[in-house]
Amino acid sequence: MAGTEEVIGSEAPSLAEAFAASPVPSCVVDMDGPGGCSVIAASDSLGALLDRPAPALSGLRLDAILAPAPGRPALRAAPDFDRAQGSVWVVEVRDGARVTVELQIARVGASTRNLRVVQLVDVTARETAQRSLRDAVARLQDIIDNCAALVFVKDLDGRYMLVNRYFEQRFGLLVADILGRTDEDLFPPEAAADYRAHDRDVLETAQPLEVEERAGEVGRTWLSIKFPLLDDRGRPYALGGISTDITGRLQMEAAAREARDEAERASRAKSEFLSRMSHELRTPLNAILGFGQLLELDDLPGGSAESVDGILAAGHHLLALINEVLDMSRIEAGALSVSPTPIPVCEPLQEALELIRPLALERDIELAADLHGGLFTHVLADPQGLRQALLNLLGNAVKYTPGGGAVRVVVRPRKAGFVRILIVDTGPGLTEDEQRQIFVPFERLSATSAQTPGTGLGLSVARSLVEAMNGRLGVQHSAPGDGSAFYVDLQAAAAPEVTANVGGEPAATPDDAPLGHVRVLYIEDNPSNLSVVRRILERAGDVEVTAAERGELGIELAARARPDLVLLDLNLPDVDGVAVLRALGEDPDTSAIPVIVLSADATPGRKRELIDEGAYAYITKPLDIPSFLGTVRRSLKVAS
Ligand code: ADP
Repeated sequence: MAGTEEVIGSEAPSLAEAFAASPVPSCVVDMDGPGGCSVIAASDSLGALLDRPAPALSGLRLDAILAPAPGRPALRAAPDFDRAQGSVWVVEVRDGARVTVELQIARVGASTRNLRVVQLVDVTARETAQRSLRDAVARLQDIIDNCAALVFVKDLDGRYMLVNRYFEQRFGLLVADILGRTDEDLFPPEAAADYRAHDRDVLETAQPLEVEERAGEVGRTWLSIKFPLLDDRGRPYALGGISTDITGRLQMEAAAREARDEAERASRAKSEFLSRMSHELRTPLNAILGFGQLLELDDLPGGSAESVDGILAAGHHLLALINEVLDMSRIEAGALSVSPTPIPVCEPLQEALELIRPLALERDIELAADLHGGLFTHVLADPQGLRQALLNLLGNAVKYTPGGGAVRVVVRPRKAGFVRILIVDTGPGLTEDEQRQIFVPFERLSATSAQTPGTGLGLSVARSLVEAMNGRLGVQHSAPGDGSAFYVDLQAAAAPEVTANVGGEPAATPDDAPLGHVRVLYIEDNPSNLSVVRRILERAGDVEVTAAERGELGIELAARARPDLVLLDLNLPDVDGVAVLRALGEDPDTSAIPVIVLSADATPGRKRELIDEGAYAYITKPLDIPSFLGTVRRSLKVAS
């Protein structure tokens, strides 16, 4: 102690004073005091902590001050107390508040008395922090344990460091059996090699990886997200992973794909069937309508003329039905070629109006059009498709409006870059329920359609056509007794650049002028078709028709006789009509002869193909006599 005195001199405090002033709450305990460890001296800081004067603490047993921390044993006799170094206790302080302390214990003095100096270090903050950390870890464990996916962490050698309960359950193992093991220890070699290759990838690139992993369990597929756990310097020290069993989802997707393929196959089969059917139906219909039209031209007595009218009306109805069924099946199969281009909105509208005018006149319906809102306006549409859709709407308006009524067409711009064509009639009008029904194929309302011919397909076809142009078709307004207003909305488009029309259409020849001497070769194997066409042509002028029932014969006759015109059927018994067309085009002796294809195949793709191959025109059966003769006349004019 001499050294200390030299440094702090005579002002040096006594040991008791120094102890009393210790900033860390402390006490001296006599291990052999009455009843066990008793306090014999306490620092002022301990008095302050316990809110009592320090001297008043003398004589108290230590377990009267220290309460055991939750889950810890109580303080007992001396041997126990010596092991209490670093242990944690709770001290009740002012106002019943509690402070957590850690005991620092040292033996003091060499005297016969068994004394300890005990410091109560406040560790409340540390304990609180540790408790919340423990809670957080427990919560995290709860989360990963309740997760319906494998959650795991592996060290750099691929040994499992952490797995969740799901991992245990899925593989029927205990955590203890998994931790420290590798995939090679747990799974079949092929699967383990796969997992390890993916792990290596993640650790080498230090990038996460999403990968499908198979096997492990036969036939199961896992979607694994594997990611590196990086240290402060960005180097991987472990690998984390979450693997979800996607076997069920993949099976569902495969089943959905199969169902969709099956539905598409069925839909294609249906469309093909309808296409073939309508093709087959057109051929006999050509004879019915052809001969019917020929009879109509003859001067028949009253009763017979009526019968012919009946045949023609029924034939036309059947033709409309076939056409619309075919359109519908093509639309459903996605095979209807609609190519929207910018076109002046009024053009197809005017064409449709012209075509419908005779029917309006016949039915005494006033037909008015206000196209001002559409002048100089272009829309994105397919001209034929739009004309067809408008014809269906106008046809309905005229058909279903009683005589003396009116049909009005208005064009006006609409919001969001659309142009609206409105077809308004003063007809019977529709209830809200009916407005929904009428777009269902084959749906005809008994109230309006009992006396009116129709197929119930017009509106469905029209709507599908307009939708294929990214437009919309629907009912704007209709109510019983208040007429109907159907709309077609089309996207407005910029006008295309104008190009000069070189050459232009040849001048039309009047359709009723008799044909001069013309030699026609008709390559066709169906006798009734042959007979209809022969009679139509012979009535129209001095026409000599030679027939070839087979393609090869047709090519030979054309080269030998050099006719003025070749009429060609496509369905021939020996070669395809396309091959005949090609052969005629390639032979210099026949290449200049115009060829008109007469076919029951009404698909637009087929038509385009034959025109591209050099056909002058493509006419679908059944023939409409005036337009057939018009085409024949134009082809002869071009050839001469
Ligand atoms: P279709 O006219 O050949 O019967 P649509 O599909 O064109 O077939 O029309 C379906 C039904 O909707 C018609 O049968 C008719 O009952 C009703 N309908 C269509 N347009 C009108 C209209 N402008 N006014 C009243 N009813 C109509």
